Amino acid sequence: MIQKLVDGVHAFQSKYFATHRALFRRLAERGQHPETLFITCSDSRVDPNLITSTKPGELFIVRNIGNVVPHVTVPGGTAAAIEYAVEVLGVTNVIVCGHTHCGAINAILNPETMDRLPFVKRWLAQGERVRAIVAERYGQLDEGARMLAAVEENVLVQLENLRAFPNVADRLDRGVLSMAGWVFEIGSGDVFEFDPQTGQFASIAPSSIPPPAVPCE
Ligand SMILES: [Zn+2]
Repeated sequence: MIQKLVDGVHAFQSKYFATHRALFRRLAERGQHPETLFITCSDSRVDPNLITSTKPGELFIVRNIGNVVPHVTVPGGTAAAIEYAVEVLGVTNVIVCGHTHCGAINAILNPETMDRLPFVKRWLAQGERVRAIVAERYGQLDEGARMLAAVEENVLVQLENLRAFPNVADRLDRGVLSMAGWVFEIGSGDVFEFDPQTGQFASIAPSSIPPPAVPCE
């Protein structure tokens, strides 16, 4: 596995880096000026730069289990990254991106699965609110639909938590910062964004994904 990564570094250097030297030189000399703070899950199937077709220097990325924004009173790496992105980098967009088949959301809905994982359990105790919302509003749904609802509600709870940061709230009020809630659907590659007008998540570009060349079975 390590050799695979080393080979990957070599391939990066001889291909991507070789054709983007000016970009990396500019990033090294002038620093980073990303416009977007992208908060997403640690899940290996979610690749922020890949799914947004962005290059190095464009996304300031925070990843943790379950794309959680801890309550504003809880210090930690995520809060520090939000503060830095907003105060120092001056990002103008924040995206919280959840994803389908999220192990963290499954654990929030089924806390007994975390019995042997004390750190995960403590981290995801922050998902109590999501569990309560799902129990209250989506109890009648089947498991798959309930999972998706939980993924979506989790994104909305994190947007609310973001708004509790005074520097975020101030910039939202002044219209110099915008926030969006996304869900990445792993199996289809589609991205759904929360629309506050309808209260629903809707596909960002439903017609942009070409159908498979060979019909799926
Ligand atoms: Zn996840």
